[in-house]
Amino acid sequence: GATIGILGGGQLGRMLSVAASRLGFKTHIFEPGAAPPAGQVAHRVTTALYEDDAALTAFAHGVDVITYEFENIPTSALDTLSALRPIRPGREALRVSQDRLTEKDFLSDLGLAVAPYADIPNAAALAAALGRIGTPAILKTRRFGYDGKGQARIMTPDEADAALADMAGAPAILEGFVDFTHEVSVIAARGLTGEVACFDPGQNVHEGGILRTTTVPADLTSAQRQDAVLLAGRILTALDYVGVMGVELFVTKAGLIVNEIAPRVHNSGHWTQNGCAIDQFEQHIRAVAGWPLGDGSRYADVVMENLIGADMDRVPALSQERDLALHLYGKAEVKPGRKMGHVNRIIRP
Ligand code: ATP
Ligand code: MG
Ligand code: MG
Repeated sequence: GATIGILGGGQLGRMLSVAASRLGFKTHIFEPGAAPPAGQVAHRVTTALYEDDAALTAFAHGVDVITYEFENIPTSALDTLSALRPIRPGREALRVSQDRLTEKDFLSDLGLAVAPYADIPNAAALAAALGRIGTPAILKTRRFGYDGKGQARIMTPDEADAALADMAGAPAILEGFVDFTHEVSVIAARGLTGEVACFDPGQNVHEGGILRTTTVPADLTSAQRQDAVLLAGRILTALDYVGVMGVELFVTKAGLIVNEIAPRVHNSGHWTQNGCAIDQFEQHIRAVAGWPLGDGSRYADVVMENLIGADMDRVPALSQERDLALHLYGKAEVKPGRKMGHVNRIIRP
């Protein structure tokens, strides 16, 4: 059988490996960190840095196609890998989504609504942007932010200096604060031949910048649901995308605003594991392997809850609940804010 190479050995790589394995593929994980969660289920693991060209080359030679579970893969590594094997989703999706400024420009050029934003190379630019955008606003590092890290809220203009100091010199953007009623996301997939399929949008609740729960169905009108799915399709098609993408949206009285995109399987799509015959992980592997997309119709109402840090103490009690599907990532060390697992609760009418 074919071998799928996965860059990144976290929980997403682990669940991709399980899905690939179920479809008869072998998986080979490339991960700099020791004892990655995906290593427990993959067929092979390479522990090496992204700067290690020889390791990258050997990895690529051992696989048929390469995918990834995170978007911050260094360009030099992509150069080495893409010369040897197809990388799916392709590099355009990475180029766009590795930098919040590039991503916002891409989305607004597509005609999609985004929060008002400005590039913030220095303090003068921040003062000017605050004058135009106003407060409240959020300063975000352009690169490497996740789970709300690298962000500082500016509630009043006198907080600007402290917010900029929080960026520690990293390039940043300012975003106007969106007055949303709630947040939803679309987990969308595009196949090698250009077909697009979306899972039913989920409604997301964040706590301290980290996703806490995703609930399906989301509170959306049928027109909003259609808007959400159609705009996701436009994004994937514009990128000539192959694989699964997470599209995060703010729901406002004036319509849907795109918050950000993630060129990979997405935490807010974990409900699909127990709410659909074909989940986001299988859908991604299908797309990457050049198979037709599967049918991701939702057949249950589901609430996905992340198990973060000390939530692991609840596992013994959770394991007693019979309508709960537990998914644990096998991470050795519990740390505050670390995603340790999730549960999918099936809601019966
Ligand atoms: P993720 O882990 O989803 O990648 P992230 O660190 O990239 O998170 P964002 O998605 O940009 O961060 O922001 C995290 C959360 O902060 C959002 O889901 C939303 O609740 C809030 N937020 C971010 N930007 C804005 C905004 N412009 N207006 C209002 N709320 C916002
Ligand atoms: Mg993000
Ligand atoms: Mg986000």
